[in-house]
Amino acid sequence: MSKVPKGFTLVIGLGISGRAICRHLQREGVPYMVADSRVSPPGLEDFQTAHPGVTVHCGPFLELDLTDAEEVVMSPGVDPMTPGLDSLAGEINPATGEPRLVGEITLFVRAAKAPIAAITGSNAKSTVTTLLGEMAHASGINAAVGGNLGTPALDLLVQVPGAELFILELSSFQLETTSWLGAASVAFLNLCEDHLDRHGDMTAYRDAKAAIFRGARHAVVNADDPLTWPQPDLACQEMFTLREPGEREWGVARDANGRQWLQHGKEPWLAVERLKMPGRHNQANAMAALAMGNALGFKRDAMLKVLEEFAGLAHRSEVIAHIAGVTWINDSKGTNVGATLAAIEGIGANLDGKLILLAGGVGKGADFQPLVEPLARCARQVLVFGQDAPRLFDVLSPRIRVSQVDDMAQAMQAAYELARPGDCVLLSPACASLDQFPNYQARGDAFRRWVLEAGAAVTARQ
Ligand code: ADP
Repeated sequence: MSKVPKGFTLVIGLGISGRAICRHLQREGVPYMVADSRVSPPGLEDFQTAHPGVTVHCGPFLELDLTDAEEVVMSPGVDPMTPGLDSLAGEINPATGEPRLVGEITLFVRAAKAPIAAITGSNAKSTVTTLLGEMAHASGINAAVGGNLGTPALDLLVQVPGAELFILELSSFQLETTSWLGAASVAFLNLCEDHLDRHGDMTAYRDAKAAIFRGARHAVVNADDPLTWPQPDLACQEMFTLREPGEREWGVARDANGRQWLQHGKEPWLAVERLKMPGRHNQANAMAALAMGNALGFKRDAMLKVLEEFAGLAHRSEVIAHIAGVTWINDSKGTNVGATLAAIEGIGANLDGKLILLAGGVGKGADFQPLVEPLARCARQVLVFGQDAPRLFDVLSPRIRVSQVDDMAQAMQAAYELARPGDCVLLSPACASLDQFPNYQARGDAFRRWVLEAGAAVTARQ
């Protein structure tokens, strides 16, 4: 049994966030040690070289005696209910009045000297976080952007000197260990089944995310998704919807000429055709960012210019090429059913019978049934691959033409042969990639490479 020395903070996890926590504690002069349940966590030697004298415990947490630990700081990748840590749940540190087990964001909140804007949801977090960051910069605000996306929150404290605003993407794992955020503005974008392997059920998953509302002075939620609505006691909240907006809502409305506008109440802000990001789901994302930016005092013209210029992030409904009249779209970040639904409904709306969907991988136990209806409307064919292909096949095949293949390359070849001019081939797998790829980026990169090579071959033949 190794003992955490009296007065020491224990950092759990030696991944990207864990290292950022260590760097922060080092800067703050807080004595700490680290524990990782893996016997040999990657990068251990480099860590020990950079942090001589810091004790690292590798192996089960049950081997640790935490009695004297001042505080235990979790990396988001580690479940607080892991044996050895689970006994700390609900324990309060009598000296600080705070839980003894906290997350990286609690340390961030203590140290941050500028207001926080925070974004969560099952999907679209990175898109909205990036958009809001661009809008802040275009408005002349020195904003630091990161969290679950890009730079870890604690590193932002030193990487962006004089930051006037912190814009953070926060995952449910980061929020479940955040007892107080106190943000100037927050958004809870949507909620669909995901990560239930860790959270257990939708209620626990939602509760974890709802921590974003604690102490918030302004909140943006999705009128079309009641699971995102905050507690009634939150005074300042705004809603966005893809329907016509109510008086204080952000929404999409048609003018007398049939032109669609992103609107705040009765006031038109931007004609939908001027929005550069594709798909209806990105109209929702644009409005969430506008609602936050407006509340944070960003410049309206600057925000609208960003929406006219920002094409979206790679691997999110990214149009790769048009080959022989067929559009190829990479939505490899569609790693759960909700994301794929948004991509199908966002992109496939005008594609009745012309969509070829590539899906499959690790389904994380999710229910694929919600995909049936929209696919029955839009899809010419669905090609399923990877670990959960049989489950996708069983759910979809009664209503939709589905073929099961081994991997994405085979699915792409089949799509290439099937597609006719006017069709759209969409990779939006509704699954994680980890059975056949290192991550969703590698899956999207493989898709892009294949499409560009196929395009080059067609051009060479002409
Ligand atoms: P996150 O950071 O939450 O994973 P991203 O911005 O990276 O979010 O987008 C991930 C995926 O979510 C996209 O590939 C797309 O399929 C889907 N998506 C994008 N916008 C929305 C939306 N408004 N509602 C639901 N799904 C969306």
